[in-house]
Amino acid sequence: MLTSYNSDMVVLCDKCNKEKAIAKIEGKYYCYVCGKSLILEKNLILLRNLAKMGLIKLNSEEKV
Ligand SMILES: [Zn+2]
Repeated sequence: MLTSYNSDMVVLCDKCNKEKAIAKIEGKYYCYVCGKSLILEKNLILLRNLAKMGLIKLNSEEKV
């Protein structure tokens, strides 16, 4: 059985430096938690931009 914490095989998250990285985003490694919040953040920015352009409508808690 392979140990998942073999230092030769595990890449740690560049943001928290604790969790095992599961994705590389814009040249940096992220674990599940950090990657998820990064993607959510980027999606929120994208949604706000789309809303500013009038392409989509956000619900009332997302006032610009
Ligand atoms: Zn992390």
